[in-house]
Amino acid sequence: MNFNIYLNGDRIRRNPIKPMANLKDRLPENVLGAFFVDSSCIDCDLCRETAPAFFRRQDDSGFSIVYRQPVTPEEIELADEARLGCPTESIGRDDAAGPMA
Ligand code: SF4
Repeated sequence: MNFNIYLNGDRIRRNPIKPMANLKDRLPENVLGAFFVDSSCIDCDLCRETAPAFFRRQDDSGFSIVYRQPVTPEEIELADEARLGCPTESIGRDDAAGPMA
């Protein structure tokens, strides 16, 4: 399996040991709701470029966080695109966390 992904011409290697975002490493700065970023974020900026309405940089920590949960189907699709594109799989979706809003 190829774990390599390219961003702006630079190779970023996926972590083959970590298959998905870990709920127990969920950053406390995320707003409540299904989408979250965990502490494995490498601050690559991809989620913020893909879905700036939901992800922003937390300057104190250098991590991205979810600052607004997607609500509409289109917003959820965009947030999911950012989640699936994260090179370190640091974005999680916990639908058991309740409504997206
Ligand atoms: S795409 Fe993933 S690694 Fe990159 S800033 Fe967003 S959460 Fe962090």
